[in-house]
Amino acid sequence: MPSRLYDAHNHLQDERLTPYHEAILSDVRRQGVARMVVNGSCEDDWPNVLALARACPEVIPSFGYHPWYVKERSGDWQAALVRHLDAVPSAIGEVGLDRLIKDHDPEEQERVFVWQLRLAAERDLPVGIHCLQAWGRLLEILRAEPRPRCGFLLHSYGGPTEMIAPLAELGAYFSFPGYFAHERKTRQRETFRSVPPDRLLIETDAPDQLLPNELARFPLAAAGSGKPLNHPANLGVVYEFMAGLRSEPLERLARRVEENFQRLFGPLAAR
Ligand SMILES: [Zn+2]
Repeated sequence: MPSRLYDAHNHLQDERLTPYHEAILSDVRRQGVARMVVNGSCEDDWPNVLALARACPEVIPSFGYHPWYVKERSGDWQAALVRHLDAVPSAIGEVGLDRLIKDHDPEEQERVFVWQLRLAAERDLPVGIHCLQAWGRLLEILRAEPRPRCGFLLHSYGGPTEMIAPLAELGAYFSFPGYFAHERKTRQRETFRSVPPDRLLIETDAPDQLLPNELARFPLAAAGSGKPLNHPANLGVVYEFMAGLRSEPLERLARRVEENFQRLFGPLAAR
């Protein structure tokens, strides 16, 4: 396994992982995970992400309102977000558009997303974007609005292959999750063959987006329910899978992902 791995997107603060934090951190360190971008998705998450960032040198914190939770936001959410961004070098995310969830209000989602995108542009911070079934609209917004000069991440990119070039032109990086190793995810895997080599990143999205059972090297189950969880140390498996998919030696892929990660998120770790 290469010595320095980078998880472009996970949710280490997720309460399902909390009982296992100590063991998880020791596993990710043994796997050689050098950095992981830990994404808060709503106001309740942000203090926990901040605490993790202060306790673990591997954690690059990211604060944002995810489209799934926009309905829950308080009147103070914008000030709270700014307070967290001011507290520690951090990215913005997870934010985005999701047309798949039930009872969503597309206009409200867009307002919240665009406000956070403008903030990222103003502060030149990398922004982690979630998008489901809204790719055309996302491209329109990214073209029309100011964007961070440092670039932005389309996490678990599942959009059309034809959109990769125009999105890359605007500054996009594309991260590949272990979830796309499932047999049925043929289209998503094919799409990733077209991602420019200097825009490719790898992610776990732990504790979600489970890998196929036979690939998961670090099995984990939620306390109480026993439901399977994705362990952040499965990152190494995702690297191996991507090396196979792109027919590239693992070490070379890992060096390139490191360069890409450092270009997008490195300034936050150095500050
Ligand atoms: Zn996520």
